[in-house]
Amino acid sequence: MKRCTVPFFIAHRGCPHKCVFCDQVKISGSSGQLPGETDVAGKIAQYRETAGRGSLEVAFFGGSFTSLPQEVQEQLLSPLQPLMESGEVGAVRISTRPDSVDSVSAAFLKKMGVATVEVGVQSMDDDVLELSGRGYESRQVVQAVHCLKNEGLAVGAQLMPGLPGDSPAKSLDSLGSVLDMKPDFLRIYPTVVISGTLLEELYRCGSYGPMTLDGAVRLCKIMLHKCLLSDVPVIRMGLQPTNELLTDGVIVAGPYHSAFRQLIESELCFDLMAGMIGTAAPADGTTTVFCSPSRISDVIGQKKANVERLWQQFGVRLAAVRPDPLMSPQELTMVSGGRSRTGNMLHDIQYGREVIENE
Ligand code: SF4
Repeated sequence: MKRCTVPFFIAHRGCPHKCVFCDQVKISGSSGQLPGETDVAGKIAQYRETAGRGSLEVAFFGGSFTSLPQEVQEQLLSPLQPLMESGEVGAVRISTRPDSVDSVSAAFLKKMGVATVEVGVQSMDDDVLELSGRGYESRQVVQAVHCLKNEGLAVGAQLMPGLPGDSPAKSLDSLGSVLDMKPDFLRIYPTVVISGTLLEELYRCGSYGPMTLDGAVRLCKIMLHKCLLSDVPVIRMGLQPTNELLTDGVIVAGPYHSAFRQLIESELCFDLMAGMIGTAAPADGTTTVFCSPSRISDVIGQKKANVERLWQQFGVRLAAVRPDPLMSPQELTMVSGGRSRTGNMLHDIQYGREVIENE
């Protein structure tokens, strides 16, 4: 049964830092006001009505939960205890900074029923972390993940390719280091310049250049593919298009796209089809693709981009894309001229570092 998330944004609460890219209010669309006991209970009741019998997960996003004073953490988590006992709330998740986690805070979270901790890793390159004002080193990420896993908590990691001092090669190395820690899931947010941040100042004075959208798509498709191969789900790519973020002037520069994830998924589909076609394009040039129902729009691409590219690059006319519920999202079958080929993203796509080497 699908789990419904009851979100509480505690933007910047508990955070003593000022990372160069951060304006949590604009990113999350929240004032960051801490919810009181009645707010928590009221919102859960409201979500209960729409969730029906589905399980509820309470999530405290933004800010650095474990940097909050202990009594405030208790104040937020205590009202959830009877609801967890009664089964009203099935799980609790929080997000925090790596240097705010140690064995004591991990044990406290476990005791209070927290099941999942999202760690804002952002990069595993110490120069990038320093230039971004993160205030910790990569070894602290390793320690934090170790402490959380020791308590049996699920760990999510957030990465931000494109920070100051970063490069596509460094981003891939960061991803490799994070995957070595065997996280339960990832979020990947290509760095975007938000107004009012230190990053905006760096950008305006020419000290920082963001990734282009094309460059971010090229890098992130490789990152997503590596996660697929490692069997680590990526639950979000690109910033959520909140009203605050989309207000005129808030996004100053950088690879923001409201459907960034779909750009990436479409690229993977295109690369798989391109590999399957290879040099042997079908004689009559007309092809039908069969795929998992969830994949149809990825195969076609935004504004039919993949249809156009298949025609331009290979002379292949994509006549139809048909759903096949028995296929996995990683598989595509191309049928043309009575010939059928099936490819799988896990086995039939290979990205070498040369794809991003000159970025
Ligand atoms: S640690 Fe998180 S909340 Fe604090 S300034 Fe950095 S990004 Fe913002």
